[in-house]
Amino acid sequence: MAKKIKEHIKIDVELCTGCRRCSEVCPVDAIEGEQGKPQSINADKCVMCGQCVQICSAYDSPFESYVTSRSQRLEKRSMPAALKEPLFAAYHVGDFPKVKEVLAQQKKFSMVQCAPAVRVSLAEEFGMPLGSLAPGKMAAALRRLGFKRVYDTNFAADLTIMEESSELVKRITEGGPLPMFTSCCPAWVKFVENEYPELVDHLSSCKSPQQMAGTMFKTYGANVDGVDAENVYSVAIMPCTCKKFEAGRPEMKSSGYQDVDAVLTTRELAYLIKEASIDFNSLPEESFDQPLGMYSGAGNIFGVTGGVMEAAIRTAYEMVTKESLKDISVTSVRGGQDVRKVTFDTGTLKIKTVVASGLKNVVPILEDLKRGKADFHFMEVMTCPAGCISGGGQPKMLLPVDTPKAYQNRSASTYQHDEEQTYRKSHENPEIQEIYQKFLGEPLGHQSHKLLHTHYKPRKIKVSDEV
Ligand code: SF4
Ligand code: SF4
Repeated sequence: MAKKIKEHIKIDVELCTGCRRCSEVCPVDAIEGEQGKPQSINADKCVMCGQCVQICSAYDSPFESYVTSRSQRLEKRSMPAALKEPLFAAYHVGDFPKVKEVLAQQKKFSMVQCAPAVRVSLAEEFGMPLGSLAPGKMAAALRRLGFKRVYDTNFAADLTIMEESSELVKRITEGGPLPMFTSCCPAWVKFVENEYPELVDHLSSCKSPQQMAGTMFKTYGANVDGVDAENVYSVAIMPCTCKKFEAGRPEMKSSGYQDVDAVLTTRELAYLIKEASIDFNSLPEESFDQPLGMYSGAGNIFGVTGGVMEAAIRTAYEMVTKESLKDISVTSVRGGQDVRKVTFDTGTLKIKTVVASGLKNVVPILEDLKRGKADFHFMEVMTCPAGCISGGGQPKMLLPVDTPKAYQNRSASTYQHDEEQTYRKSHENPEIQEIYQKFLGEPLGHQSHKLLHTHYKPRKIKVSDEV
């Protein structure tokens, strides 16, 4: 019998009005039901992007009476009992209680990583303007919550670029399934596995930054602190609801331990900070811990559509030409249109690229590819409209008018933070260079292949509630 996988996105039928606004944003038509009646999610189609959670505006009114009490509802959603905000019909199930327990007991050595998109949105939960940049306060808050090591997903994004750029150049020069697709968006990966199983080999074999960071915590990071890997508890703070699904994938344990033990969304981290009565706005600016917390600007732009492509080009160009890239800001791949096609000419090699945001926009490209009509080498796909900054786990905009402003400001802060960094190319990050020297060997080498790569396969496993 096929192993069952946990479902992370649900609709509360008692609250759902059947407005079907969620079906308009669902990229895979997974929301089923008649207008005006409670909806359900087809779990086998759903890619767990959480866009339905972001758009849903039906909530538990204090003036109505329900069969399910608010406390029962909170428990079912694994959310804090003291949560004050409205509970919406479409929701994601949290990892809040298990992280809280680990932090309270302090029996495990906890290491946390934070995705790039979280530092440009978390402060919104504490009344700061949309898109406020707050990496220092975020690091300080995580330390006060009791995490023993506050590391950064951006570091692992740099690691991803080292591996992915090498894989791309190898596939182009030595022959490999082309075009190569990025594999850091788990909803996109699940979509390919579900709907285009014949194209699975086109996905890069690189794990996502979340999973690479988790692997490094349980190997190199455990060694730095002299703790047994089995005592390391690895937490990821993510803008994305599908990262919970990715963390639970059975193949994500090449160190011998599950790379990531729990994933909190940006909203869940805000609940944790509020529940601990930490005054976020008064926190000092603190740094991330070293060595797994140093990052380049390239690692930081993974949070926006076009960011992975831009970071990969910054490294792949220099890898191929052995010359310094003059224009570090590769603005031609940045947001603006749903699909961007750009060719980079390195002199010896022409790299034809495509950047697509939104799964509906990528379908015609995949259909062309199946008909043998796609003429490009590398494609970045992010499921959410503006990339991870607009992910399903990000602060929810209660007024629709704020949504475009939030995306615009979060994107601007992401690029600002890139420009603030001493190093803006992944291969120039000194901690990355040292880790390859001391531990990983070379990109695509034996150790990095074992720990940082994985395989994807056509998905026969069905999603179920029963885990
Ligand atoms: S889940 Fe929310 S958005 Fe979707 S139909 Fe129900 S009330 Fe409307
Ligand atoms: S999580 Fe995403 S894919 Fe799943 S039902 Fe909601 S919008 Fe659709």
